[in-house]
Amino acid sequence: MKPQFITLDGIDGAGKSTNLAAIKVWFERRGLPVLFTREPGGTALGEALREILLNPATKAGLRAETMMMFAARMQHIEEVILPALSDGIHVVSDRFTDATFAYQGGGRGMPSEDIEILEHWVQGGLKPDLTLLLDVPPEVSMARIGQMREKDRFEQEEAGFFKRVRQVYLQRAGRQPERYAVIDGSRSPEAVGHQIEMTLDGHFGLNV
Ligand code: ADP
Repeated sequence: MKPQFITLDGIDGAGKSTNLAAIKVWFERRGLPVLFTREPGGTALGEALREILLNPATKAGLRAETMMMFAARMQHIEEVILPALSDGIHVVSDRFTDATFAYQGGGRGMPSEDIEILEHWVQGGLKPDLTLLLDVPPEVSMARIGQMREKDRFEQEEAGFFKRVRQVYLQRAGRQPERYAVIDGSRSPEAVGHQIEMTLDGHFGLNV
């Protein structure tokens, strides 16, 4: 099997960070080489842009915000993702372009046709082989985040914003069911982890 590009996405507080641990264990158990990375970020430039993008003090218009996301992504693809895949290493990214369609598109109202132009320009034909979409109602994720951490520039948005973000994720998954696995992230951590493991088994043809 060629090296796989897998992304993990979903609204803030859906459980992405929590489940990365289970995904790491899954790859370790099977002895498959894998690189874990994240967006925005994954490179020195990308992490610097992440600081700017997530900082509540940052003032950025929608187009500037979207272009910073894609600038970080361009560097990530060239410096990290493509070299790893060409070395035979699977790549798992915490967020990728689905997040731009969901947040800048659904959340903030950037037309998806405009995002598609940047997607094509930056990625060429590169698309994830599998996207694990952790789906939770915004009320659930907001309650989780509210308790635990200082909110970043996106997490500070109101509930309506996250409803629109979630809707775009689900629409995209519905249109391309072969690329997306929608995981019910509102279940117990064990149940969610189990569903992710089963999905990876199925994707890698190891479920026999
Ligand atoms: P994300 O990375 O998607 O923003 P996190 O993994 O940081 O989300 O999870 C947000 C919070 O919700 C954390 O406090 C985490 O412990 C908690 N959490 C994650 N998954 C679950 C779950 N299935 N059930 C209950 N709480 C969860």
